[in-house]
Amino acid sequence: MAQLPKLSVAIIGAGVAGLAAAAGLNGHPDIEYQIYERATRLEEIGASIALGPNGLRTLERLGVDNALDDSIAFRNKSGFPMIYRHWKTNEITSVDSHHCDVEPRHSTARFYRADLQKALLAHVPSSRIHLKKAFASAVYNSATDNLTISFEDGSTVTADILLGADGIRSAVRRYFVPHSEPKWTGWVAFRSVFDVKLLEGLEDAVLNEANHWWGPDRTLFASRLGNGLFTIVGGHYSDPDAPDAPYKDATWNSDGDVNVLRDYYKDWHPVIRRMVNASPYTRQYPNTAAPALDRWTYGHGRITLAGDAAHAHGGALAAGGSLAIDDAYAFVAALWHVFPPGTGSHSSSDVLRALLLYERTRKPHTDRVISTVHEGNKAIIARLRQKSTETEDQLRARIKSRSDPYWIHEHDVVASLTKAIAQELKENSPASKI
Ligand SMILES: Cc1cc2nc3c(=O)[nH]c(=O)nc-3n(C[C@H](O)[C@H](O)[C@H](O)COP(=O)(O)OP(=O)(O)OC[C@H]3O[C@@H](n4cnc5c(N)ncnc54)[C@H](O)[C@@H]3O)c2cc1C
Repeated sequence: MAQLPKLSVAIIGAGVAGLAAAAGLNGHPDIEYQIYERATRLEEIGASIALGPNGLRTLERLGVDNALDDSIAFRNKSGFPMIYRHWKTNEITSVDSHHCDVEPRHSTARFYRADLQKALLAHVPSSRIHLKKAFASAVYNSATDNLTISFEDGSTVTADILLGADGIRSAVRRYFVPHSEPKWTGWVAFRSVFDVKLLEGLEDAVLNEANHWWGPDRTLFASRLGNGLFTIVGGHYSDPDAPDAPYKDATWNSDGDVNVLRDYYKDWHPVIRRMVNASPYTRQYPNTAAPALDRWTYGHGRITLAGDAAHAHGGALAAGGSLAIDDAYAFVAALWHVFPPGTGSHSSSDVLRALLLYERTRKPHTDRVISTVHEGNKAIIARLRQKSTETEDQLRARIKSRSDPYWIHEHDVVASLTKAIAQELKENSPASKI
């Protein structure tokens, strides 16, 4: 008997979501995938990235256990995901805690982003990754019942399904929802990653924990990473609508002035000054965000989005890496559910069913994340516009009353998928049609 063609998936973007989805599709005998990446090579750019228990558990489900290795994943000695400190006194003001039972290997971990990307890449044959392929368009062809995908170099490929995992400035999203470009939130992060040896002699509570110091007008995050590295993330906030807002035109991952950064923190506690002064450089990352999309399924029910492309919430709450991994898992699990090995045929309605199941699993959760992020950004801008100075008591109260992000970092994607499958079953039961 002639073999039916495999279901083909084109993944746009070899970032965290795209590579995690690829890892999850490995092993499905009836599905084949290819990744199309705009970059000319997958080089080591970027700074640090955090994964919460959700992302780490999901990586394990996807078979990417190597990413959990202590050599690249740094976990706080204390077990607290984050420690909050006062900018001037260095005293601990508050901590984040895990709310559910978390295995030590799933405790919040911080990575040098390039290490996480390498760990994911180890699960994807290089022959499946096509570099210098910037997405241009995707058109459904009814005669062949598949998609023709075009790239900026003029080449085309066909596929049954397209997953747009091309990051916060997603060309796939822009193609289907032209007015969805993320906007600058007014926050610029100054990030650097350097050898922890540059901080020799600094207290253990700083070297072996992830600390977030809050001051009246800015914060500083610092943490050890895997591979003997350390990161600091400073920041500058301004009203994004102010015509004279500094950094209004800054570009993402561009050179920053480390002396300006040192100046921002010159009155802060000596521990902070030591870290900022040790940083050999800094790079600027203007933070952008966009409202939630109305839907995630396009192109005759054959195209969907994942990661920052699906929910441009910016770098807030250090949630982006884990959200991208959970998206990838839900996308892959929906395909495995609708097309279990040996199914053979793959009709348009089944493809649509799988993509809607994925959307139903993820979108309610990521919509809530986005609205939380926008609320937080609005509050910051309102404070900036009031220009009122905060008392010490007010600052401490603000640290303590911050929103607790545990529901993001401990979200259970498997439970959401199970619920979405049950909802689908209920809607399709004969009783629901009476
Ligand atoms: C090089 C790089 C460095 C980063 N550094 C940090 C960091 O230091 N800290 C942090 O918190 N977050 C960083 N991020 C963002 C972080 O990876 C994501 O927020 C998060 O992990 C979600 O992953 P994602 O897969 O949705 O997007 P990303 O990880 O951003 O991946 C998107 C991928 O799509 C590719 N792409 C973009 N446009 C196209 C196109 N038109 N056609 C084909 N491919 C395209 C990109 O080159 C990239 O490889 C970085 C992203 C990149 C790409």
